[in-house]
Amino acid sequence: MTQYKIPDEEKTPLYLKPVNGRLMARFDFKRPVTYLVMGNRNTGKSAFIEVLAENHDNTIIDLYGSKDNENLCWCRKTSPIDDILLVHGDNTTVTASFDTAPISDVNLSTLEGYKAVVTCNSFFSSDNIKFDALEKLTGVLYERTQWNKGHLMFMAFRETMDLIYSKMHQGVGEKDAKAQLLYFMRQLRHFGVSVGADMLRWTGIDKELRDLSEYIVFKKIGYKGLPRDLRFIYKYVNPITFRYMKHNQIVMLQENGNMSLGKFDLPKYHKEEGVDLLRELDITISHSAAPESSTQQKIGDMEHFIIMELYKKHQSYRVVSEHLPEAGYEQRSISSIGYQVTQHNKAVKQKGSCDRCNRATPGTDIANIELYTG
Ligand SMILES: [Zn+2]
Repeated sequence: MTQYKIPDEEKTPLYLKPVNGRLMARFDFKRPVTYLVMGNRNTGKSAFIEVLAENHDNTIIDLYGSKDNENLCWCRKTSPIDDILLVHGDNTTVTASFDTAPISDVNLSTLEGYKAVVTCNSFFSSDNIKFDALEKLTGVLYERTQWNKGHLMFMAFRETMDLIYSKMHQGVGEKDAKAQLLYFMRQLRHFGVSVGADMLRWTGIDKELRDLSEYIVFKKIGYKGLPRDLRFIYKYVNPITFRYMKHNQIVMLQENGNMSLGKFDLPKYHKEEGVDLLRELDITISHSAAPESSTQQKIGDMEHFIIMELYKKHQSYRVVSEHLPEAGYEQRSISSIGYQVTQHNKAVKQKGSCDRCNRATPGTDIANIELYTG
């Protein structure tokens, strides 16, 4: 398996120094761990997650980001990486000078074939489609049951709270949304994936997240100060440090209690505020209508397409109805099948192609075949 090491001289410089009275915390880039990066907004959390990512020798997976497409920073000329895959929604076309793939085409070996697998909000036509896609992509990681020591992937969570909000938006309760996220992060280490997650402020989830993190990295935290159970750190690091820390500074606590102060250069490729990366990278995006999914009452676009495929083969509503369960759908009545065929043919006759088939199979011209109905 390819290992995509960034040469040391191309990595963004990162330095640690000990804190008086405490053993020094050190990074261990050879075993999968979780880094929780805590601090206020605009304090350099994302930049630090990028620096962490650079130090992992396998794929960087950068899917969870902010609204401004910050994840695309890896594509910039100043980035040390060129093997990049851009993943987009199935009903979206992305034109770029990098490899692109619709989410349905991504499997584990695809992920392992790139140094960075990146997506961003603009690559999906809606939040729901995006979150379905991310679930699918992360599910792919669960297949990574074998990996060599040190061959770690790195998964960036740039707006961790957004993940919880989005799950809640999909109707999951707050408690379950948090539990799912924690479970997911905890699982990733079994698949050789390290995690770098940001946490905006002291929220309901931060204690649980801290408990599963091997490293807690503090950025500037403002007047709120450290959570009660972490205030012992003030014995070693002056509270003023946390209030006035610069963008490129950190205080790091390791699970064994070791501590260090850290400093890093701002990655050259890090997205500055106000930069439109889509424009800079000359990436164009177009969305077509998303496929409708099937329900008990309603035949969705993909099911419609499969019905048409079966009909092409068997030329009988009854046989299609019988074969539908083999394709993973419930059996539909003969008249429902007949209705789909009629609608398809009507569409092809009137418009030259069938929207439902188009949505189910974006990018193919399969949809403009009118079928003989006998
Ligand atoms: Zn059709």
